[in-house]
Amino acid sequence: MFLSESLGLNEKGNLTIGGLDTVDLAEKYKTPLYVMDEELIRKNCRLYLDSLKKAYGDNGLVLYASKAFSCIGVLKIAAQEGMGLDVVSGGELYTAKKAGFPMDKVYFHGNNKTYDEIEFAVSENIGCFVADNIGEICDIDEIASKNNKIVNILLRIKPGVDAHTHDFIKTGQIDSKFGFAIETGEAFDAVKKTLSCKSINLLGIHCHIGSQIFEIEPFVEAAKVMLSFMKAVRDETGVELSHLNLGGGYGVQYTKDDDPIGYDEYIGDIAKAVRKLAEKYQLKMPKIIMEPGRSIVASAGITLYKIGAVKEIPGIRTYVSVDGGMADNPRYIMYGAPYSAVVANKADQKADRIVTIAGKCCESGDLIQENIALANPEKGDVLAVLVTGAYNYSMSSNYNRIPKPAVVMIKDKKDRIIVKRESYEDVIRNDVSEE
Ligand SMILES: *Cc1c(COP(=O)(O)O)cnc(C)c1O
Repeated sequence: MFLSESLGLNEKGNLTIGGLDTVDLAEKYKTPLYVMDEELIRKNCRLYLDSLKKAYGDNGLVLYASKAFSCIGVLKIAAQEGMGLDVVSGGELYTAKKAGFPMDKVYFHGNNKTYDEIEFAVSENIGCFVADNIGEICDIDEIASKNNKIVNILLRIKPGVDAHTHDFIKTGQIDSKFGFAIETGEAFDAVKKTLSCKSINLLGIHCHIGSQIFEIEPFVEAAKVMLSFMKAVRDETGVELSHLNLGGGYGVQYTKDDDPIGYDEYIGDIAKAVRKLAEKYQLKMPKIIMEPGRSIVASAGITLYKIGAVKEIPGIRTYVSVDGGMADNPRYIMYGAPYSAVVANKADQKADRIVTIAGKCCESGDLIQENIALANPEKGDVLAVLVTGAYNYSMSSNYNRIPKPAVVMIKDKKDRIIVKRESYEDVIRNDVSEE
């Protein structure tokens, strides 16, 4: 009924998450507030782990792409579920370290890792780097050598696959800042360069074709391109690559118009394609790695706001302003991302007023959603924006010096804070006031 199985309706007509009344949560913790359902995060992890095991046996690994939502509380859950981790910065790596995440299951991504970040990751003995460019390969080799270590890497490849999604989140094509293109020969040069590095162990290749994808074919297509590249590498260098990382990007349902594919089908088709081609090319079955981010946490989260000003502009539109906005959810202003919302204290009422939800920042573009149907939104109501568990907290800012909201986790109908609300003191904590 409300897009996510975490959500429901209670006898007061209020929206619930994980069985708790969202209006009570808004009262207890104040707004804006991110609320997440731990059970659903765990379930989403298991869907991947179980589907991959079913389709491919034990030679698979699922990494949680932590950029979707990185904090100690969430990383602990991912670790307990047996996930590996994808980090893209020193800060994400530091969070993983503080969460006690097993470092051998950490993969370090990114198109411009700094020397310091590489040194940090090498000193922590992370499982693998996903190397993006030649300069970086040289840096990794140098740092590994200085530390008398052999470091595992995958090479990020552009498979040239066009995933039908928003241009900003399409990364597998040749005009992308990420990785090495196959058709220009860059990818092959990178393999040769890597094989010549004394302190690097080349495990395999990686691709990530985009995000919020609802079709299976681009993933299967990418897997095929990757396997034929592995064959070409074997044929030319004699080296058999053992790891194939196919990235993330599986779509989630933000509105009723989104129609995600079943995990079993999606993972099953990919595994089948890999198996078939590995046999055909007489390659050893590679370890398959997947890196879901959004689909692990998005559906488990909502954001609660208080409605303030309701401004009706006759014949134009009605603005319903909330006490948050682009500072806690920049996805509409950045991508025009679709969202669903419910007036939490009127969740049993018919949503028949078309309005625009506006944030409180000093930007006309600071909107959460335009032309969305809500049940008679009024000042003082609690508004729940749904499916905000991914790329909301992790993309939040202090624009307009707005403190970041708290994150509350629900488990067994009990609520606990996993990230504290920032105070005004937190907002100025790095300001230097002395002359
Ligand atoms: C963003 C990203 C992911 C996760 O993508 P989702 O769409 O959140 O599943 C995985 N791998 C890489 C390299 C990424 O950049």
